Amino acid sequence: MKLSGGRSFLFRIKEGEEVVEYLTRFLERNDVRVGTITAIGTLRNPAIAYFERGMGDYRIVTIDGDYEVVSLTGNVSMKEGKPFAHLHVALGDRNGRLYGGHLVRGETLVMEVFVQELSGGYLERKPRMNGLSLWDAED
Ligand code: ZN
Repeated sequence: MKLSGGRSFLFRIKEGEEVVEYLTRFLERNDVRVGTITAIGTLRNPAIAYFERGMGDYRIVTIDGDYEVVSLTGNVSMKEGKPFAHLHVALGDRNGRLYGGHLVRGETLVMEVFVQELSGGYLERKPRMNGLSLWDAED
């Protein structure tokens, strides 16, 4: 799908917000339907997930404590009529070890976010047989 640049947003999320809920509300409030997200910061007690193909579901891992968000990257598209943020994260601990996966939730301590809206197309997630909601594949 060919898209072009829309609005750009650069902002900080205040301490204590649940990051996935906050970003979803931000997208709804600003009517961002397609785009990309990147962020860095610190999350408390984040939960990440790994998709187990055999189960057709996510295995969720909660890691207690404060973690550096080395990289948060994701995209925005529509799911069930609302903007949906698909987010992956790399989290660093105090010893420099890295955890990573699909971001389920986490409490913000610091979070600096860049959202790039993309316009010129409609992108929607639809349920697939393997338990994932995916876009139509490009031909
Ligand atoms: Zn994912």
